[in-house]
Amino acid sequence: RWSEVTMAPADPILGVAVAYNADPSPKKVNLGIGAYRDSEGKPLVLQCVREAEKRIANDEALNKEYLPVQGFDRFLKITPQIIFGKDSPAVVEGRVAVCQSLSGTGALRIAAEFIAMYNPGTMVYISNPSWGNHHTIFKKAGLKYLNKTMGLDFDGMVADLSAAPRGSTFVLHTVAHNPTGVDPSQDQWKKLADVCQEAIFDTAYQGYASGDLERDAWAVRYFANTRGLELMVTQSYSKNFGLYGERIGALNVAVKSKDTAAKISSQLKGIVRPMYSNPQLHGARLVTWVMEDPALKALWEKELKEMSDRITEMRSSLVAALVEINCPPPNANFRNWNHITSQIGMFAFTGLSEKHCSLLTGKHHIYCTKNGRFSMAGVNPSNVKYIAAAMKDAINS
Ligand code: PMP
Repeated sequence: RWSEVTMAPADPILGVAVAYNADPSPKKVNLGIGAYRDSEGKPLVLQCVREAEKRIANDEALNKEYLPVQGFDRFLKITPQIIFGKDSPAVVEGRVAVCQSLSGTGALRIAAEFIAMYNPGTMVYISNPSWGNHHTIFKKAGLKYLNKTMGLDFDGMVADLSAAPRGSTFVLHTVAHNPTGVDPSQDQWKKLADVCQEAIFDTAYQGYASGDLERDAWAVRYFANTRGLELMVTQSYSKNFGLYGERIGALNVAVKSKDTAAKISSQLKGIVRPMYSNPQLHGARLVTWVMEDPALKALWEKELKEMSDRITEMRSSLVAALVEINCPPPNANFRNWNHITSQIGMFAFTGLSEKHCSLLTGKHHIYCTKNGRFSMAGVNPSNVKYIAAAMKDAINS
């Protein structure tokens, strides 16, 4: 019977990493997966994390017992403060239901289950393009979704959201939209708050875009604190803590009353218990130890700023390298390469076509997703000129 199982297609993003690992070329460059690399192309473990790890290892009073279904209590207390702000009325008044999750993906998955339970007919609006997994996550929970063009097309986005059926759900990227790196301005967010219905703010890059945790949380804080809107916020600590493999994140549901928040918390537990029973402990301790300790938190913010500065610098270096060799823009819609420096966050949406990307990979051993998205973390002073030359060759081929 099992022999009838067919091969599932490779994940479009994770498949890039598999192909990269299998390539023996010494010239190879990985611009696929969104994980930070230092200026030598190596993965980075933050010093604040190393320090927290030492403190945890040396504390013999700590044990490895199960966490409660909803997660580590100290983490559940501090994580909404990081995204909504310490003085957020929703946080201070205990109106946020919080559930620790298997990072951002897990938080979205719990959110999708919850929405499917309480708002089953909802139409889920996802920007086009978006992080590929958004579509599958919401489909898995049995939700319909429409894939609409948003991003730069702000008028189109407002028109779509305004025309959405009542009870629709909008998946919004809090900061550093993946894959485009193009966010609404603060004025545009204000207009979106007028037309928004149920919103889920997916927060995978807080502090990563500007190097400033507060600034990168602006949209969520405006909706929740300034406008008092009810909303869901997913948090991922993968990128901003470099804790990809620890799977630390949270789902926050900010509502109008403490009583409603308590009821929602109980239902979120009901979703988690039969799925994976309870979340993991070590990563929750790591981020909590850092976020609670003012000195470690300051170190975290310094390291975050260094990571985001390096990426910003690589954006400028890549554009400079392209200009230096007179590389033509990717297609007729672009007059130059300035979009690479105006975009923010981990990714550059280069405008390269699928054909360009296959040439980059096939001929030059440069790996990226076929929609032309580059993980800027994979760019460093040693490979930037090589990448630029390969882009020129692909465009001119
Ligand atoms: N949302 C977006 C927009 C992302 O880019 C990512 C990571 N690529 C995630 C959520 C989830 O990542 P993780 O599960 O590692 O937190």
